Amino acid sequence: MNLTDSDYWDSAYKNRDFEHWELNYPSPELAALIAARALKRNAKILDVGCGGGLDAIFLAQCGFSVVGVDFSPAALRIAEKRARETYVEVDWCLGNVLDLPVEDDTIDLVTDRGLFHVIEDDDRPRYSSELHRVLKLNSHVIIRGASKESAQDRFNPVTEEAIEKYFSKFESGPVLPIPLFSIAGVMDGRIVVLKKK
Ligand code: SAH
Repeated sequence: MNLTDSDYWDSAYKNRDFEHWELNYPSPELAALIAARALKRNAKILDVGCGGGLDAIFLAQCGFSVVGVDFSPAALRIAEKRARETYVEVDWCLGNVLDLPVEDDTIDLVTDRGLFHVIEDDDRPRYSSELHRVLKLNSHVIIRGASKESAQDRFNPVTEEAIEKYFSKFESGPVLPIPLFSIAGVMDGRIVVLKKK
């Protein structure tokens, strides 16, 4: 099992084996951000590693312009079908987050749920620089992923040290504990919000 390999993810989505990370709701922390009206009405939001697209669809339902990027074609097929059934439009893009198919300085918010924690250290500088490139100045990234305690040898956790090391071109808020809910259960997680400097 190699979480950096698109084939691993693609076969999981093909087998509809995603209950360990998908949730039947939009992620609560994202809903809270929207409820607090932290974004302007016509904001453009990028969901990196959007998977089956539930957060992206929620954001489109809220009226935002949404781009969902994932490197699993099977994930995007599921996401597209769900969007059609919900009558919303999302710009689904097959691509790698290390080489985002998105123009410079065009994004008002990046949402990452469960993506940074599958990016290996060697690729983290590239990931950070891609997010920096596509975001508008003073715009935010919201990252949620496994904590050091829950990561085991499966994930590369979201820690203060990692954020400090790889996101020096961003202003960082605190790394805080949250539950990461999925259909299968709950995992100890961390959340951090970064602002492009
Ligand atoms: N955000 C979704 C999916 C989380 S699982 C949710 O919360 O349900 C991680 C997702 O990131 C998977 O869909 C996987 O296919 C995708 N992914 C992992 N590495 C990627 C990469 N380098 N480029 C694009 N997508 C990637």
